[in-house]
Amino acid sequence: MVQMITRHIREMFGCDVDIHAPLPRPDYAYDATKVQYSSTLILRNLAAISNSKAGKFLAITEVDLFIPMLTFVFGQAQLAGRLAIVSLARLRPEFYGLPADKDVMVRRIRKEVAHELGHTFGLVHCTDKSCLMSLSTEIMQVDLKSENFCKNCWILLEENLEEMKRQSAAISVQNNLHDGGRERHRHTDQKDEDEQEMAQDARRRATSPSPNVDS
Ligand SMILES: [Zn+2]
Ligand SMILES: [Zn+2]
Repeated sequence: MVQMITRHIREMFGCDVDIHAPLPRPDYAYDATKVQYSSTLILRNLAAISNSKAGKFLAITEVDLFIPMLTFVFGQAQLAGRLAIVSLARLRPEFYGLPADKDVMVRRIRKEVAHELGHTFGLVHCTDKSCLMSLSTEIMQVDLKSENFCKNCWILLEENLEEMKRQSAAISVQNNLHDGGRERHRHTDQKDEDEQEMAQDARRRATSPSPNVDS
């Protein structure tokens, strides 16, 4: 699965991709009432543990994600930032009571990964329903959109990709967020500095008042 994702990112974005060591399940982000995990809290945590010099950082997780405004999200990303997360939970046909289907699953993952990374490259939601950057609030919308960016989104993406390559940055994929022990990450001064730096960076570059975008 991770190999498939890294290959797809390499092909689509033409970037180097590193695979990060698996992280523990994000228990700190668990909401017992919703029985889901806060993707906002996970992104905040990723900011602290990912190398801010290493370019984009994409987390793949099995846990079901939510943000306060929505009952669930397929993923979340920082607009024109570094961090993105994609949940596999609702991409599985089994979630909807259907038989497992690897081809369907692979297509959905490729779309959601490229969509969230698109946000980190500054792309906002596109009104073209067939465009990879169109908003998906239900699985049917994920299935209906193509695996490609529309012409306008592609032009914007290429400009931002060129900028990233000039900075010789790479994309890291991080898998198995749900696996491992229950180790918690302590708050440190370094983390706070990183977060401030990240917040400032996001404010400088974001074209929206909120640096995070859902789905
Ligand atoms: Zn588009
Ligand atoms: Zn989106």
